[in-house]
Amino acid sequence: MAVGVDSEFGFELSVCQWAEECWPPGRERERPVLVARQLGTRRRRWDTLVIECNAEGLRQRADFGSRRLDSDLLHVVRNAPAEWEWYRDCLPDPGYPWRYVREAVHRAADRDLIEERTSGNRIELRRRFRYPDWIERIVAIENKPDLDASAARHLADQLHSDVALALGDEVWVATNRTDDAVAPVLLEDLPVEAGILGVDPQRRGPEAVSVRWNPQTLPTDTAGTRILDRPDASGHDASACRFEYADPEWKAHKRREIAERAYERGWRSYVDSMRSDCRHFEMDPTEAVARPTCRAKDCQQTPRQCSSSCEAFEPEPPAWRQRGWPIEGGPGKGLTRVLDRQRRRQRPDPD
Ligand code: SF4
Repeated sequence: MAVGVDSEFGFELSVCQWAEECWPPGRERERPVLVARQLGTRRRRWDTLVIECNAEGLRQRADFGSRRLDSDLLHVVRNAPAEWEWYRDCLPDPGYPWRYVREAVHRAADRDLIEERTSGNRIELRRRFRYPDWIERIVAIENKPDLDASAARHLADQLHSDVALALGDEVWVATNRTDDAVAPVLLEDLPVEAGILGVDPQRRGPEAVSVRWNPQTLPTDTAGTRILDRPDASGHDASACRFEYADPEWKAHKRREIAERAYERGWRSYVDSMRSDCRHFEMDPTEAVARPTCRAKDCQQTPRQCSSSCEAFEPEPPAWRQRGWPIEGGPGKGLTRVLDRQRRRQRPDPD
């Protein structure tokens, strides 16, 4: 591992920062991008996600606020009519009891996403804004700074599943850049559809990343194959591969849900799950990216280490918090606010 980057988490932050500034690799940026980390489906979570957005759609998406719209809210806002209508007339049958739809209509109205009124016994709604098509492409990046043979085998299985399902438009592997003429990762048995990025996690800007293998664009708008079980590669496993189909409507819906979560969270939300209120918590502003650093453990701690169960946790001294405390908080709260401001800068203002 390159000196100064202690963990896959630290590597991942470099990749996120680079993607936010420089995506796509080797080409001019044509559209705005949003970057998020650790998002996906119930079965699969990707390390880094790049959402390439339609500029006008992204601006219109801002009308719905900075919080994500979950699956039920999407069902309501995407089908809300221009004029008042009974909710059961205008919304498609959701395939689950209507009382849950009523609940979602109330939630949407509470968040000012739609207008709602009661006419007789009937709940009626109409839209305030048209929900835009703001997602152009979804790119998944798997971060593996040190790809040894066993990590490569595990990763190959995951990538084969990603390619078969084609929920994202591209999948990539990001790994430490080496001086070898042929990157070692190219010698592993990864699917050819997956792209490969060589990353120098200490650097910033376009030079920090080079493309070692270009990916193929995956067919996101046709049915995909969800691999449930596959024989292992030992040659001794004679079991059959089990799979099921994922229809295009499911995929389109899932893509919107994933993009909505990315819109809300961005990639800096890791600080929300760390103990930034600990006196040992600092941000190390390296050239590539600012990474959390623990002065007590003298390392770049991961969110898992920097949790409520950390035995070295010590609260910030009250004196650190005196200016504006308890509303403003101490340095930890300040860091959180800075990261949150940076996260919000990536989303357009509705005005
Ligand atoms: S001592 Fe523990 S809680 Fe405090 S910054 Fe370090 S890892 Fe986080």
